[in-house]
Parts: sequence; C-alpha cells; structure tokens
Amino acid sequence: MTATADQAADAGADKGAATDTGADAGADTGAQEAARFHALLRTFEGRAAATAGQGKDPVNQPMIRHWCEAMGDANPAYTGPDAIAPPTMLQAWTMGGLSGHGDRSSAYDELLALLDGAGCTSVVATDCEQEYLRPLRPGDTVTYDAVIESVSPRKTTKLGTGHFVTTRMDVRADGELAGTHRFRILKYAPAAAREKKPAARRPRPVVNRDNQGFWDGVAEHKLLIQRCTGCGTLRFPWLPGCNACASLDWDTVEASGAGTVFSYVVMHHPPFPAFDPPYAVALVELAEGVRMVSNITGVPYDKVRIGMPVRLEFLRADEDLELPVFRGSEG
Ligand code: ZN
Repeated sequence: MTATADQAADAGADKGAATDTGADAGADTGAQEAARFHALLRTFEGRAAATAGQGKDPVNQPMIRHWCEAMGDANPAYTGPDAIAPPTMLQAWTMGGLSGHGDRSSAYDELLALLDGAGCTSVVATDCEQEYLRPLRPGDTVTYDAVIESVSPRKTTKLGTGHFVTTRMDVRADGELAGTHRFRILKYAPAAAREKKPAARRPRPVVNRDNQGFWDGVAEHKLLIQRCTGCGTLRFPWLPGCNACASLDWDTVEASGAGTVFSYVVMHHPPFPAFDPPYAVALVELAEGVRMVSNITGVPYDKVRIGMPVRLEFLRADEDLELPVFRGSEG
C-alpha cells in the first residue's frame, strides 16, 4: 500500500512538471502527454485486480481427467489414489466459466476504462507465466487474489500503440500459496484506425523478360498470344517454352478480341484493397482457343453466365496501369 501511495505522489509530481514545461515549449508535448498518462496508469500498480476469489469446484479427478485427455498427457502422476493435478491446470481451477465470478476489482475496471478513453479500445492477451510452489491434489479448495503488477510505458507494436498490463494471481490451496499466474495483455489503439491509408490501387503485374511482350502489346491495346514457331501451338499465359514440343522459339498472334465465358466465380470474400466485392472473375476462352482470367465488365456480377459472349476492351485502372478485360452483353 505504501508503494501505491508513493507512486500516486510521483504521478502527481510528474503531472505538475509536465504542465509547467508544456506552457512554454510545444515540441515535446506528445512525449510529455504520454509520460503523464503513463504516470497516471502506474498509480494502479499494486492495486487489486481481483479479491477473495474462490474456485468454483475443489480440485477434482474428473476435471484432471478431461484436461489430460484434451492435452494427450498420459503421465501416471495424474491418475490413481495419489494423483496430483497437472501444474499447468493452475489457472483452470480459478476460472469462472460461462457464469463468471464477478470478482474483478473496480480498480481494474477503472484502469481499462482509462485506456479505452485514450483510444486503446482493443485488447490482446500476449503471454502468461506460471510458478508452481506446491502440487494441487483432489480435494484442495482453491482461493486466489490478483494484483495489477505493472503497466508499461506506451509501446508501438505491429497491432497498434498501447500499454501492456500485467496482473499476477496468487493461487492458494487450502489457504497455502500453491502457485502464481502472471498474465499480460496489450490494450491498444488499432494501427489501421489511426492511419488513414491512401486509396488502394490494384496490384501491379510482375513484368519480366518472359512476359514483357504481352505488356508491350497491352500498351498498344493489343492482346498478344504466343505462338510456337516449332509446332504452331498457341499458349497463354506467356511462357519461355512450348509445352507441346519444348521449342524456345516463338512469335505472336494478335487476338481478335472475341471470346466466351468458359467459367467464372463471384468474389464476395475476402475483401482485397482496390476491389469492390461482389464482382465476377471469369476464365474467358478466346476465339483463338486459349483461355485467360480477367474481369467481366458491362453486366452485373450476378448476370455473368457460362457461354456468355464477351468482347475485349482495355480498362485504365489508374495512371500507371491498363488491363485487358472483357465486356459481356446480357440476353
Ligand atoms: Zn511447339
């Protein structure tokens, strides 16, 4: 309790200092604000997270058996007349189940509410550590207390920016300390919500020496199909060699632009940036016989049908990207 009082006093002092300097210098305002908020959060260190908690059931053989079956743990120490509970079950004996315990302290609720108020509305459990002091045996009654052990300074993670909150639960068996369970969460403001992303653009094609000719054709509004000069087989997409005769020699023919929908899917999920579901993705069979994957334009996604005649056109997706797509016609 002394520690808590000291920390509260420190927090008050920091707050005063931050206010004084904040009046004349604006450069470090963000850092000062963060330090002041952290000092406030630290006043919760040492306060109860849960008090006088009681396990819903005494340590018992059926729960031990279920646990061992679920874990695939056949250790003989967990069965028979002298059975002990697997040490890693420590927290299981304290869990409230569906109906809960209602033993969470008001201090812990206040701490979480403060973090919510600062925009740290998301939570993720990051890790837990346990320490075992004596075995739990069937018949032991379980009680526990939990304390808010520490609140970290502001940290930025891949998920977002927030604070790690560590609680430590002391678990007792028949009144005797049996183990500790230290549990850490990150309360954070999600990164996606903080950063306004620029409007997404469609993915760029990977252009290399094997398909450069195709994209050169697109730039001239030509859909070029590779043709093996060894055996005359047409191929699409572009490849270095012929699947039919293995020849590496080729030229191109320009597609007429006529085709039919050979097959298609309608994309609903998952959403990809720059795409607005639902939309149809079709496997188009060109009049020349090769097939290519593309979008169908000009008809609603739910009117696309196998066999539907389509016609090549070029879609300008953005200033750097033009794509061959196929316009369908209903009826
Ligand atoms: Zn060939």
